[in-house]
Amino acid sequence: TLSGFKEVREEEKSQMVGNVFSSVASNYDLMNDVMSGGLHRLWKDRLVSKLNPFPGMRHLDVAGGTGDVAFRILESLNSVSRRAVQDVLQDNLQEETQIYVCDINPNMLNVGKKRAQERGLEDLRSLRWVEGDAEALCFEDASMDGYTIAFGIRNVTHIEKVLAEAYRVDNMTRVKPQEVMILCSNLPSCTQLVLKPGGRFLCLELSHVEAPEFLRYDYYSFSVIPALGELVAGDRESYQYLVESIRRFPPQDMFASMIADAGFQKVEYENLVGGVVAIHSGLKF
Ligand code: SAM
Repeated sequence: TLSGFKEVREEEKSQMVGNVFSSVASNYDLMNDVMSGGLHRLWKDRLVSKLNPFPGMRHLDVAGGTGDVAFRILESLNSVSRRAVQDVLQDNLQEETQIYVCDINPNMLNVGKKRAQERGLEDLRSLRWVEGDAEALCFEDASMDGYTIAFGIRNVTHIEKVLAEAYRVDNMTRVKPQEVMILCSNLPSCTQLVLKPGGRFLCLELSHVEAPEFLRYDYYSFSVIPALGELVAGDRESYQYLVESIRRFPPQDMFASMIADAGFQKVEYENLVGGVVAIHSGLKF
């Protein structure tokens, strides 16, 4: 039947995605730099600056792979803490901060753990590595102050399920009222940052080029990326699959509607490099 056919296709897709990331894990970070000319670093910086992380937060980075986004959140927290928090308070808050990196592929997480060790982050209790599926998260309802997913959602089988799970685990308010009071009495400069209500949802994804001057990126991605995959990672097919998934991903406005349908409010998006990449965001009130 048609639905039987659909199920097989979906199973195949999940398996294909698994194979792709098992095959690319060890080359993943190098390929990211090669394919984006290093720009993915700036895009992830932008994502984290929009998240506006705060000390003591519980954050979930889904499809977190080798930890790029999680490391940036921790670095950003460290700089906020250094700037504004007294030493004693900083110790307390660091104990509470929890950044979960969740990914379906253990190979990617293992590369991430190694990178964390190299950066001297492995002892930090703030960082936790969890193997899991974005479509069925193993976290409690309303347990997170923030949720990010970078270059992950276009590979999943059911985007709607991922968004429903993001909404489920996100909290209504970013911090408990008593924590706001502790922070604000010590940190007047952070009041605005901490008081923002609503669990945050942020998604960074390769998207659809809107500005004509960037249309040549289409040519670049569909012809050059698979060739680079073959050259650098010895794996043309996996990279062919990855670029094809960009084409199938819904355009910016449609994806924004899907996020709103999942329940998030104040949904908006920012195009970077003319729409090569977009950051969608929403809040749970
Ligand atoms: N977020 C990281 C980054 O930006 O560097 C990694 C992005 S990588 C392109 C996509 C990741 O999504 C891979 O690590 C893959 O294993 C993961 N992934 C794919 N399907 C997933 C799913 N259903 N649940 C969780 N992770 C998934």
